[in-house]
Amino acid sequence: MLDCDVLVVGGGVTGVAAATAAARNGAKTILLESKPFIGGNATTGLCLHNYITKNGRQVVFGIAQEMVDRLITMGGAVGHIPYGSFVHSVTPVDGELFRTLSTELLDEAGVMVLLGVNVVGTEVDGGNITGVQVAVKGGIKTLRAKTYIDASGDADVAVSAGANYTKGDRKTGKMQPVSMVLRCFGTNNQQIADAIAISTPAMATRSDYPEPIPVYFNGAFSQWNDIIRENNIFPNEDHKVFFNTVWPNNINVNTSAVVGVDGTDPISLSSATVKLTKQIYKISQFLKDHVPGFENASFVPSSFAGVRETRRIEGLYEITDEDVSVGRKFEDTIGQICFPVDIHDPDTGQAHFYEIGDDGAFDIPYRAMIPKGLENIIVAGRCISATSFAHGATRNMAPCLVMGESAGVAAALGAKDNVTMPKLDVAKLQGILEKQGVFLGSRVKQ
Ligand SMILES: Cc1cc2nc3c(=O)[nH]c(=O)nc-3n(C[C@H](O)[C@H](O)[C@H](O)COP(=O)(O)OP(=O)(O)OC[C@H]3O[C@@H](n4cnc5c(N)ncnc54)[C@H](O)[C@@H]3O)c2cc1C
Repeated sequence: MLDCDVLVVGGGVTGVAAATAAARNGAKTILLESKPFIGGNATTGLCLHNYITKNGRQVVFGIAQEMVDRLITMGGAVGHIPYGSFVHSVTPVDGELFRTLSTELLDEAGVMVLLGVNVVGTEVDGGNITGVQVAVKGGIKTLRAKTYIDASGDADVAVSAGANYTKGDRKTGKMQPVSMVLRCFGTNNQQIADAIAISTPAMATRSDYPEPIPVYFNGAFSQWNDIIRENNIFPNEDHKVFFNTVWPNNINVNTSAVVGVDGTDPISLSSATVKLTKQIYKISQFLKDHVPGFENASFVPSSFAGVRETRRIEGLYEITDEDVSVGRKFEDTIGQICFPVDIHDPDTGQAHFYEIGDDGAFDIPYRAMIPKGLENIIVAGRCISATSFAHGATRNMAPCLVMGESAGVAAALGAKDNVTMPKLDVAKLQGILEKQGVFLGSRVKQ
């Protein structure tokens, strides 16, 4: 049907950065996305966690920073804002403008984007993928590339081609819950923050709103425990909630959860989506009736359920719990992660954070993106090779953007030099990343 140098599967943050970087580095690039739009989970209205370490050092640059800069100009971001809670700073973005910018970036770079296309299989010869099978109107077609990037979040391509993987916790198989972000319009965000925030909210200004506005805060619904129990709003008391926005009068609420879901099983995920849609409606009525600042709000649930955890490939290296707790640095680094491990308990849905050791950042080794036994594929995003605990950090969006960009450059290099991913000259890749500003300052320990 169509041939290319680099074929990217998945158009979330990871795939956007990957395809943009591959095309910018000279590869004829196609991106396949099963949804009818680009941006993946980032479009639901979240913060790009995280660019700045607990010591105040920025370690994430490249396309990740370019997107923030361009979103500020579009009115869809307010920059990196200091926050004195579980994380040093927050970077909220408007989900719809993130989608718009992602679409623009890909178009500018010359990526061919195919929407509504589901990868359902692979053709493999030895460890080489010779084509991916896609379900489209008209049936199953095959697309071929020199190098493939799996940015599906679920490692669909790598697993179909024979990669080993772990799903959820290695011992129990449990995965983090799925959630649906509630988008609220016509809110008074200062009143909400005054009523619920447990630490000083992150405050920002924008050129069109010069007075500081609260853009990020977290809290718990403890003062409404009686009402919540009586009306069965949440399964637990002191239920945690996270708010983010870039506007003074709209806010995104992240507090819903359905546990025991397998995001790779369409029946399980569809059933969870029905439950979340109903749960979100109940939460919106509770907010309107009881929580100051929501009295005049209208509510829109995000259009799909967000999946935190499914498969992680078995790579040439697995990022370990210890790598996170000691803030380990690797010779084959392709970038750094500085957001704490963020685990929503698979049984209760409640969030817990664990700090990264040393200087507050650990390296992403190139080997963690290479599935064992396969040659011309690189995996990026939340499904790289990491323990369930380490995945609590790797799954966040700044790391996904970093991995995506590095994977894009690596795949373009591999396609150009006719080199497989395990044999790629990592020093050469690092040199390009450094030159293109992805690494700026991030390899210096402080
Ligand atoms: C409720 C929730 C809140 C979160 N909050 C934050 C936060 O505040 N900050 C933060 O940094 N992170 C947050 N995260 C984590 C973060 O959003 C995700 O881990 C990250 O966006 C993953 O990016 P990705 O590109 O790897 O995957 P995704 O965004 O999931 O993108 C993968 C894309 O691939 C497509 N796809 C999948 N399979 C196929 C296939 N077979 N064929 C074609 N296309 C396919 C999907 O449709 C999707 O668009 C949150 C996650 C959830 C669920």
